[in-house]
Amino acid sequence: MLLHELRKQVLDASLNLVKYRLVTLTGGNVSGRDPITGFIAITPSGMEYEGLTPEDIVVMDAEGNVVEGKWKPSVDTGFHLHIYKNRRDINGIIHTHSTFASCFASLHEEIPCVLTTLANEVGGSVPVARYTPVGADEMGPAILEAIGDRRACLLANHGVVSVGPDVRHALVAAVMLEDAAKAYFAARSIGEPVVLPESEVQKARELFLNQYGQKN
Ligand SMILES: [Zn+2]
Repeated sequence: MLLHELRKQVLDASLNLVKYRLVTLTGGNVSGRDPITGFIAITPSGMEYEGLTPEDIVVMDAEGNVVEGKWKPSVDTGFHLHIYKNRRDINGIIHTHSTFASCFASLHEEIPCVLTTLANEVGGSVPVARYTPVGADEMGPAILEAIGDRRACLLANHGVVSVGPDVRHALVAAVMLEDAAKAYFAARSIGEPVVLPESEVQKARELFLNQYGQKN
């Protein structure tokens, strides 16, 4: 089977979206790009994640032609392809409709960087991409305009997109963003959250990139 490891990573991330309650039923989608072949592995359209196997993940080329796979790829394939085409640094993309982040997407309100976890995992405040209908060609450009150097953005009236150098990093950004959105939502209901100064955002991000975890 072509790109077994990448397909497994896409499937594992999808199952984690279910585990962390970021998707319901067949919502959301996950993809990863193999930096060597340039092929993209993406979740199939309209199928619940539990019960899928790596073979069910669709492999396609950069133009969206299916290279291997028995199912139709995600309906959001267009914006995944557009992001990969324009950002060589991104090799993992996750889209969800996670509740608290989508709450701010429905308000067209960016989530300010009020928690160090946002600085660490997303790179600062979470911007909002302008509204585009689901599946529209404009979706990819709207996401790229908004996301800049962040690891995630909100999609106005829709949900969330997170990205990373691989699928695992995109998953971490999606999970941590929802967690921070929940805390921000709660804080807003009892007071006015304090936004971290830019210098602190930078410090938190650098600490995470250079020292956190088990890196040598
Ligand atoms: Zn969606």
